[in-house]
Amino acid sequence: MAKKLSRIFLLSKLWAVFLEGPTTGGYPFEPLQLPSGFRGKVVMNAHLCNGCGLCVQDCPASALKIERFDKQHFRIVYNPARCAYCGQCEISCHRGAIHLTNDFNPAVQHIGNLIEVLVERGLPKG
Ligand code: SF4
Ligand code: SF4
Repeated sequence: MAKKLSRIFLLSKLWAVFLEGPTTGGYPFEPLQLPSGFRGKVVMNAHLCNGCGLCVQDCPASALKIERFDKQHFRIVYNPARCAYCGQCEISCHRGAIHLTNDFNPAVQHIGNLIEVLVERGLPKG
């Protein structure tokens, strides 16, 4: 009798799950619904950046690097593989130049291919 009751209980649960439908999203066949406040890919408004280096200095994961060529010329390099998506760079930048988007970094075969130059003023000498 107990066995029969447990089967009925189990079947009713299975039926309820069947009626509910999938609880997961349909991605990649449907657009992905990300929660508001999702912190994704870091991007730069290059024309706003003055190369002060505050974002680099405050990044806790060393995901940003600045290469200075001379006083006016520099390059900021971003390594998403190191990024913790904490948002500190956005907070630190007083010029609103760097911010996190609601987007993913692309999948790549080699991790080094993720590294991206966010802003470049001038080229290295040599
Ligand atoms: S989001 Fe955080 S870890 Fe990523 S680059 Fe900005 S400060 Fe660094
Ligand atoms: S992004 Fe902002 S904080 Fe970072 S170097 Fe440029 S101006 Fe400075």
